[in-house]
Formats: sequence, C-alpha cells, structure tokens
Amino acid sequence: MSTEARPKSIGGDSKIKAGLIWFNGRLVPQEEAKVSVLTHALHYGTSIFEGLRAYETPKGPAVFRLQEHTERFFHSARVMRFEMPFGPEAINQAILEVVRANGYRSCYIRPLAWMGAHTLGVNPLPNNPAEVMVAAWEWGTYLGDEAVRKGARLITSSWARFPANVMPGKAKVGGNYVNSALARMEAHQAGADEALLLDKEGFIAEGSGENIFFFRGGVLYAIEHSVNLMGITRDTVITLARDLGYEVREVRATRDQLYMADEAFMVGTAAEVTPISYLDHRPIGTGEAGPHTLRLRAAYMEVVQGKNPRYEGWLTYV
Ligand SMILES: *Cc1c(COP(=O)(O)O)cnc(C)c1O
Repeated sequence: MSTEARPKSIGGDSKIKAGLIWFNGRLVPQEEAKVSVLTHALHYGTSIFEGLRAYETPKGPAVFRLQEHTERFFHSARVMRFEMPFGPEAINQAILEVVRANGYRSCYIRPLAWMGAHTLGVNPLPNNPAEVMVAAWEWGTYLGDEAVRKGARLITSSWARFPANVMPGKAKVGGNYVNSALARMEAHQAGADEALLLDKEGFIAEGSGENIFFFRGGVLYAIEHSVNLMGITRDTVITLARDLGYEVREVRATRDQLYMADEAFMVGTAAEVTPISYLDHRPIGTGEAGPHTLRLRAAYMEVVQGKNPRYEGWLTYV
C-alpha cells in the first residue's frame, strides 16, 4: 500500500510511473515536469485538482464523465480565484492526449492547477496565474482487491470534516486534503482501511476521499451534501440505483445509523464502489459485502467499461 512508499533520495525517484505528463501545454517526460521549491501551493496548499479514470471498453479506452470532471475543475479554480491559462476544452484535450500518448488501456488521471512561485505572500492576488498539468498512471483498486471483495473496515476519525465556513469542501482544493491525510493516516495506523469523517455536529460527512451510502429495508440512503464533496461517482450511483428500481433518499445520518444498516458502501472515482464490512469494529449487516451493494458495483463497472449502451453518453473515447 502507498503508505509504505519512501523516496530513496530527497526529491528523488517517485514510485509513481506517469510516463509523459502534460505540463503547461506540452507533453514532457515525468522527470522534466518539475516546479520550484518556492511554489506558493507547496507552502500554502493553494492548488486544485481532479481525479478521473479511463477504462478499457470494447471500443478502446474511454474516460468516464470527462465533461463533469472538467467542469468541477473549473469550479474549483473559480473558488480559488485562479486565472486559468487554458480553457475547459484545452483541458479535455490534454486529458485525452495524456492517455493516448502513454498508450494506457486503463488508468487514473490527475489534472492539477497550482499557484506558482510568483509570490510567497499568502495572498496571491491581484495576479493569480495558475500553472496546470495532467498526469496519468496505471492504478488498480484504491483500497485493495481484498477490500473490494470482502468489504473495507472503517473507523470513525478523531478528525472532524471541516465546516463550510472553514474550508471550501465542495471544491477539490489541495489544502483540504490535510484533513483527509490526517484521517487516513490515523485509520491505517489503527489497522483500518479507511476513515469515516463526521461533521462538527457528529453527522456522517464522508470518507477521506469517498462519499458514503447505506441500505436499510431495501431503500438506498445517500448522505446529503452539507460539508462533503459532491462526488460524480455518487451522482452516477444514484442514477444507476434509480434506474434499477431502488428508492433513493438523501439524508443526514449518524454513525449509529450505519451500525444498524443492512449494508453500507463507499464511492469515488478512485475507490469506485467499495463495500464497507465493519465500522468501529462492528459488522455492518452480515459483515460481508451485501447483495445490493454488489449489484450496484456490478452495474457501475459495466457502465464504466462501456458494456451498457444506455449510458454511453458518459464515455469519451480516447
Ligand atoms: C474526489 C472526492 C470524492 C469522490 O468524488 P468523485 O467525483 O466521485 O471522484 C469524495 N470525497 C472527497 C473528499 C473527494 O476529494
């Protein structure tokens, strides 16, 4: 798992093999895609990013929900008041180009924009020119194959998800992930696969990078958006569940509601649809991946892999 990764030398060999990276408008080898140590984002977390996946389909590799990810990327930029040197269409093309140039059949894709080294004043205004890159690498299941099959073990984090007037939690802003990293480190150290973060009132917010769902009495409950990220996978899963005939309710819920759930699962571009087997050492339902969750997971994988023509509109072929 990635927590074991330790660079051999300072600033040295990355364990990530990203091949060619789109760096401010040009494709360059990974070793050449470098920034200054005086980069504003490195000091203050002033970056924004996206996470997408491309999957192998019967018609070649396809990026899943490209438009929605690029749109959210630009929404995040707007929150941070970045001056983006490239428009949405250029970013769409950059994403496709990176997958193509590296010859990936499936991969994880990471667009990133950041405040460069033009100032180290905390306020980067009035000139806020962002730099942009898109990297992609081959990445299997985020939480491990075991977690996907048997379900992930979660513990409630001692770190709360920040309130809406503390950090912009609907935007994928770099600095927000200090909260996620603290929670995930703590969870791993405690032997769990992932952390469950609660909001400051104690209601379920989300995982460190995943939205949470649960089933009770055949009804699917999605955690409503108060302080969590508005996940594109969450939206996909709600759509698929409704199309499969499930009743879906968006609710504010507590951790003990999860303890009492028949099934629970997490979703995200990286985590896809991963069952939750245990929360705080209590089995959820039978303590195994539940049938409704597995059905939704199968439906999701079918759609992203281009095996369900009904949702072809979500695919952009590379
Ligand atoms: C990216 C992310 C998610 C999942 O969003 P998707 O659009 O489904 O990939 C959920 N929570 C957080 C905090 C995230 O950063």
